[in-house]
Amino acid sequence: MSLYLKNATFIDWQDLSFTQTHIKVDEGVDGSIELLDELPDSNSIQDSKIIDAKSKLVTKSFGCGHHHIYSTLARGMSAPAKTPQNFVEILKYVWWNLDKNLDLEMIKASALASALYCAKNGVTFVIDHHASPFAIEDSLFTIKEAFDSVGLSHLLCYEMSDRDGEEIREKGLWETDNYLRAGNQGHVGLHASFTVGDTLLKKAVILATECNTGLHIHVAEDLADQTDCLKKYKKRVVQRLKDAGALELKGSILGHCLHLEKEEIALLKNSGSWIAQNVESNLNNNVGLTDYSTYGDNIMLGTDGMHSDMLRSAKASFFVGQKTEQISYPGIYNRFRKVHQYIKENDFKGDGDNNLVILDYNPPTEINQDNFLGHFVFGIESSHIDSVISSGKLIVEDKKLISGDEIDILNFAREQAGRLWEKLK
Ligand SMILES: [Zn+2]
Repeated sequence: MSLYLKNATFIDWQDLSFTQTHIKVDEGVDGSIELLDELPDSNSIQDSKIIDAKSKLVTKSFGCGHHHIYSTLARGMSAPAKTPQNFVEILKYVWWNLDKNLDLEMIKASALASALYCAKNGVTFVIDHHASPFAIEDSLFTIKEAFDSVGLSHLLCYEMSDRDGEEIREKGLWETDNYLRAGNQGHVGLHASFTVGDTLLKKAVILATECNTGLHIHVAEDLADQTDCLKKYKKRVVQRLKDAGALELKGSILGHCLHLEKEEIALLKNSGSWIAQNVESNLNNNVGLTDYSTYGDNIMLGTDGMHSDMLRSAKASFFVGQKTEQISYPGIYNRFRKVHQYIKENDFKGDGDNNLVILDYNPPTEINQDNFLGHFVFGIESSHIDSVISSGKLIVEDKKLISGDEIDILNFAREQAGRLWEKLK
């Protein structure tokens, strides 16, 4: 069944041109759209869904380059008994305590609630990095099922590490292997250099090579990652990854990359690896900020699990970027949209032209091709997202999820959050 958007103002996400048009949206993964001067006669489209997009803006939907659905049920939970004094303590007292208590029901609730928020925020492609050391088996399949039910495209991975011993490490490899070999697109996930020994790193690179994909790993998020690497391996993190063959893999994603030296930046620039920038998380964890302008072009934006709103991430990155690199309007828009290049260049599926947002944005000033970026930075927010189309299917209409039941999802999430918080007491 085709979908028609009539009387739309279509903004081409690449050249920012504005076209008054009707749009025919084909359904299916990597489907296309057609701009029409006139709608076909009503008889021939009587079985199609037609949305009146008069006075609305229609443009390509968004992607998230680094998410953690596993943190969804943390919102509002009690602070840890001991107050963390640094980044590694934040991991130990908060996140590693939370992720060890997740079971498959909680993971399902986390994924459904995150998918709901992504959908409503116009994020139709999610790259996730998941951890649940005592519920690894089937975790990726559980997240996939939740994302698929809401209608989002995705690249999933399990963040393996040595922090919980050999048996759990092997389970991570097993789940990743099963998931990727079942034909699912995704990454081989690793937590970070300081929790990944050489054996695991080697196995991860072999698995990624066999499955024709990249690693997804945090890199130098805190200085502690570099200190640990220098102490244990007498080299810096990016050098360690390069020596292990990780930078030669197809489409590896390195989260953060805050504390790199010039030589490491040069290594990254000359590789096919991508960086995911997450400034709100960096501010929250007080781990530092960096000037990404010297890092080359393969940088995209993520949320690091803080939320599921990429317009918010773009704005935060713009304001922080004023301090760190004097980023321009085109600079931040380009970085916000880089995820599409990442997906395309690495042959992943699910980010075709038939992924769209319909914005009900009625500004107090003129909006056109020439000043769109000023509206992007200072005006357009996720609250303006009226409807969302993912792979040609309408998943959000009039600000309501229609591919699932919002109330049921949130009730289920609250019930599972209650169970999780009880376990954390
Ligand atoms: Zn992260």
